[in-house]
Amino acid sequence: MTDLSATTGVTDRPSGTTRSAGPDPVRRFLDEHAPQTPCLVVDLATVRSRYRQLRAALPDARICYAVKANPAPEVVGELVALGSAFDVASPGEIDLCLAEGADPASISYGNTIKKPRDIARAHEQGVRLFATDSAADLAAIAECAPGAAVFCRVLVDNEGSRTPFGRKFGCAPESAAQLLVRARELGLDPYGVSFHIGSQQLDPNAWEHGIAAAGRVFADCARAGAPLRMVDLGGGLPAAYTEDTPRTEDYVLAIERALQREFGADRPELLIEPGRYIAGDAGVLRSEVVLVSEAGDGAGRWVYLDIGRYNGLAETEGEAIAYRLRTARDDDPTGPVVIAGPTCDGDDVLYQRTRYELPVTLRSGDWVDLLSAGAYTASYSSVGFNGFTPLPTYCVDGEQR
Ligand SMILES: *Cc1c(COP(=O)(O)O)cnc(C)c1O
Repeated sequence: MTDLSATTGVTDRPSGTTRSAGPDPVRRFLDEHAPQTPCLVVDLATVRSRYRQLRAALPDARICYAVKANPAPEVVGELVALGSAFDVASPGEIDLCLAEGADPASISYGNTIKKPRDIARAHEQGVRLFATDSAADLAAIAECAPGAAVFCRVLVDNEGSRTPFGRKFGCAPESAAQLLVRARELGLDPYGVSFHIGSQQLDPNAWEHGIAAAGRVFADCARAGAPLRMVDLGGGLPAAYTEDTPRTEDYVLAIERALQREFGADRPELLIEPGRYIAGDAGVLRSEVVLVSEAGDGAGRWVYLDIGRYNGLAETEGEAIAYRLRTARDDDPTGPVVIAGPTCDGDDVLYQRTRYELPVTLRSGDWVDLLSAGAYTASYSSVGFNGFTPLPTYCVDGEQR
């Protein structure tokens, strides 16, 4: 931990200079401190520049950073200082934001799956904005957070996303309208509609589905006397992995076009919940080569790292996210490899279908950096993903003595 907090010292510099000027501060930190691996090093300057880039591109959108992407207190604190709002999922994430100085009014409780007592606690702490997508959750909000503003998440097609959400969240637009009308009857403030188009969404036009669905809910609610005011564009903006991604401007153009088509001059208030976009490119994950071996079946070279599926690289499941790699031997000739993690689990293989080449000279003890690894790595590994505490272990001894 002390190593990581030291990053604050080496990254305290003006934004926008990460790529252009001077030595990469993350690389410098790694060279100077040679921290024990695996570890994640986050450049707060990149966090700042991403936030400002989005702020400039969508000046009227309230940016709610999705805390689960990277809940490092330094990252949250930096965003508080920039005036960001926050999308949280649990009491743990609310406490974290408040501890870093966030105004409770800037916190959106965006998880549609929550316990009544957690809603009540959030409300006591001053949180006034809640997502919902079911009658049961809506009733709990009305009971435990009287008068709060609510928005309803609609289920949208996640085609084009590298890490889609499936069907866990969101309801049909017709149900959303019914819930929001009901919200008003329950004394809540029916505020708007949200969607998540799937994380690492590579198709800027994907937002059209969500914005069109929001338009339908707006129309239904207006007819029923419960007019809405807000569209929450969710997450989905990408980080830079091995695949090319569209530019931020391309996303914003597509979003603006869809808003114009759906709402015209009645532009709604906007929220956007970037997670990966803010934190992804800010982080470098340094790992060490444990072993390089030729597969017994002659099927090629395997490189085993000290980072794997279970200590930070959860998003390599299905090879969904393919990180860019960097090694100290990048000038040497390369050859194809299978890349695997360090555990005794047969599924702890990072890439075997995705074609990776690494230097043929790579050997045990060398470092390998995974670039743009600032989102959904440390948060998935040990700190308690999404603010839910790490699983405790209790031991009992049933033997009578
Ligand atoms: C995880 C999450 C986000 C962030 O998604 P990214 O694709 O990382 O930007 C935004 N909103 C909600 C509700 C989420 O659960």
